[in-house]
Formats: sequence, C-alpha cells, structure tokens
Amino acid sequence: MQFSSYEDLRSRLLTHAITCEEVVRFYLERIESHRSDNIYITVFHELALERAKALDRKLQEGGSPGKLFGMPMAIKDNIAIKGGRLTCASKILEQYESVYDATSVLRLEAEDAVFLGKTNMDEFAMGSSNENSAFGNVPNPFDKTRVPGGSSGGSAAAVASGLAMVALGSDTGGSVRQPAGFCNIVGLKPTYGRISRYGLVAFASSFDQIGVLANNCDDAALVLAVMAGKDGRDATSSSHAVSDYASEMASVSVEGLKIGVPKEYFPESLNRDVSGMVHAKLAELRDQGAELVPVTLPDSEYAIAAYYILVTAEASSNLARFDGARYGYRSAKSEDLAAMYVNSRSEGFGREVKRRIMLGTYVLSAGYYDTYYKKAQQVRRLFQDRYREALEKVDVIAGPTSPFPPFGLGDKTENPLEMYLADVFTVPASIVGMPALSVPLGFDSLNLPVGMHLICNFFEEGKMLGIARHIHRSL
Ligand code: GLN
Repeated sequence: MQFSSYEDLRSRLLTHAITCEEVVRFYLERIESHRSDNIYITVFHELALERAKALDRKLQEGGSPGKLFGMPMAIKDNIAIKGGRLTCASKILEQYESVYDATSVLRLEAEDAVFLGKTNMDEFAMGSSNENSAFGNVPNPFDKTRVPGGSSGGSAAAVASGLAMVALGSDTGGSVRQPAGFCNIVGLKPTYGRISRYGLVAFASSFDQIGVLANNCDDAALVLAVMAGKDGRDATSSSHAVSDYASEMASVSVEGLKIGVPKEYFPESLNRDVSGMVHAKLAELRDQGAELVPVTLPDSEYAIAAYYILVTAEASSNLARFDGARYGYRSAKSEDLAAMYVNSRSEGFGREVKRRIMLGTYVLSAGYYDTYYKKAQQVRRLFQDRYREALEKVDVIAGPTSPFPPFGLGDKTENPLEMYLADVFTVPASIVGMPALSVPLGFDSLNLPVGMHLICNFFEEGKMLGIARHIHRSL
C-alpha cells in the first residue's frame, strides 16, 4: 500500500477503493515491524483503529469528509493529546498523562485526521540528534549507524520510513527543519504565532513553534492550513488572516524570483558535498530564470551564542514547574520538601536538560543579566532588522539546512558545543520569528540526504512552500 500524497490516499478513500480501517491497520503493522527503530514512544493501537472505523461509518452514512479525512499522523511527544501519555522523552514525565488536548490536535481531529501515536524526540526538545531521549536513540532511516537529526527525530524518521503520512514536530531553533533535512523529507516551521502553542510543552516560549514534517509540500500546506490561526488560549498566536496556501503556491514562478544568497551561509568549513549540492540547485534555478542576489547578513556568527543564552534562560524558567510535586516523577528517597525538589529534578532530568537549566539560571542571575541575557536580546533585535532589510530586496533567502549530512550515532554526544553548531543555519529564522523550511536536495556521495533551507518574510508560508515545491519536483 503506497500513496504518492495525501490527495492520492484521499481519492482512494472517497471512492471507496480502500477504507480508513485498512489504511490504519497497514500503518500499525508497519510500525510493529519497525519496532526496533524506536521511532514511537507510544502507539495508539486501539484508539487509532476505533477512530478509523468511526470515520468509515461516517462516510458510509453520507457524512461530509473533513479536509484531512483518514490522514494517518504521528505527533511529537511534547504535544498534548487528552488521556494519552505525554513524556517529552523525559524520565520526569514518563508516566504522565495529558488532561487536555493541544489546540492543533483539536483542529486536526475536527478535520478527521487519525493519530497513530507519539514519537521519540530529544528530552524536552533539547538536542539535534534525538540522542538526548530517555527512551533511547532512533537510527537514521537511510543509514542505521547515523542520527535522524533532532529534536523531532522520531517524527522525521516516522515519515521517512512510511510509519506515518505526516508528523507534527516542534521547532525552537531547527528541530523540524534539521531532522527533515537528515531524513530526506519536507520540514516546515511557520512564522512565530502562526500556530497556537497551547498544549505544546514549553521549552523557550518566544521561539517555540509547532511545525509539519511531510513527504511533500502539498501535504505540509494542507496540515498547516488546518492548524493555523488565532487561538484564544494562546495570547501569542497571531490574528493575521490565514492565507489560501494552495493558490499562493500555484502563483509562484521561478522566472524573476529573487533568491538571496548570503555568503555567511557558505563558510569555508561547510561540508563540500552539501555546498556543491546547494550551489548546483541555485545555478539550476538561475538557469530557469531566477535571479541570484548576494546578500550580507553581518554578525551571523553570533546567532548560536545569542540563541543558547535566550533559550536556556527561557527553559530554566519554563522547566521550574517540574518539581516532583505538580507533575510526574517524584523521588522516593526524600526526607523533607527541599530534598524532594532536588532529588526529583536530579533524578528525573537528563544531562542536557540539567546543563541548560544551569546555563539559563546563570545568564539570568543578577550579576550576569546585563552581560549575557540583555546583550543577547539586543542581538536578537539586530538580527530582526537585518533579516527584514534583506527580505525587502529578495523573495527568499536560501542556503543549506545543516553544515554537514547526518552524523554518526555518538559522534557529538561528548561535545555539546559541536552539537549546538549543527543548528547554525536554522537558528537565525527562529531568533527572528520568520517562517523557514527544509526541502530535500537528494543524496550526497555517501548516499546521505542533504536539505536546502529557505527563509521568507513573516506569514509568507504559501510563497515559501511554492518555491520549495518547485525545487522538490525538479529533483
Ligand atoms: N537543536 C536545537 C536545540 O537543541 C533546537 C532544538 C529545537 O528546535 N527544539 O536547542
């Protein structure tokens, strides 16, 4: 059973060539046969089947099918589904069950999507390789000795391995785009505020966005359209009107398209295959009528430093709520309240999460606030001005998604700084809040996937997806 796109699946469902139940059984069996890949933390065997049967009945009884009728989806395990386990791949939430649904989950459900389960990830979405999970690693679907990227590694591997048609991830600094690039699929991070964060466990609230991982740009656009829009439960969600993505995508033409190419995105140290493949694609677009415009984004080298100061600061505050009293894990060996807090957090959180809580607490502390946190906020503002200026002159900024192809399991776990550098090209769009995506470019000389990264102006998801679709189709 293979589907080229959701449209293909949908037409087979609506013409009764196939039932939702058959589709869901097929995916559940595939998930079972890939168990050793550790892609799902929780699988909704019964629930998904029940739901599929209910959708089949709805169709038989003449009900009108929703926009995502029967779409088999995977949800990153930091997004809440009522009554389902919500672990954030952390020991501290191992047994925690959500008491409410995320807004995006409700909106997808209202359009008849089917949730297959919750996917593996780096603990609290902190990481670039999925190796910070309390539930173990996920191998890259194209080379089992390598990482799938992170933090949405499980979601990316699920889509790439055919264990879900589309998956939700979260992107704070690249966690949807980088794993999409590593797994040869499309990964979209919308404009900050485009999708409600209600029900997404907070890591760094002023950066976090729910994103979509899909086999193609059309599927990603469909799912985005369903989730996008103001939500009364998230004050930072935007009331900007939701575009008609399909028609915006259709109106994109390569002829005359101005593609900004920042020299800062092609440093000396860039992997040669990655650089070669991105340059080759840009040359192809130029031959098709696009204009390549050199742009400069000075101070790009400060992106990672500013990002890790700001997100750790926010994380140290957001994660204060996991104290052994209100949620999840409580240490058994505590004589008094203070010891209970300390022991629960020490035993419940993994190494990277603890490192970030300490870093964040440090940069917010009285003596260091101005030196680090305030400075990083100023850098953030500077980046916003520079990207706005650049996007006044061009339609899109293009470059590699990651400075290197998928790296080996264990290669960077002992060196957090090196791991942080995996995000050097994805972090700026998160600092600025602009939409960005990764689109597959094919495979390098070692047969590893390489992705191209696009950034557009605020709320230009439709245009960006249209450009990406053109790139993807010309592979
Ligand atoms: N890898 C980055 C980090 O560890 C990005 C994570 C994310 O986008 N959630 O912070």
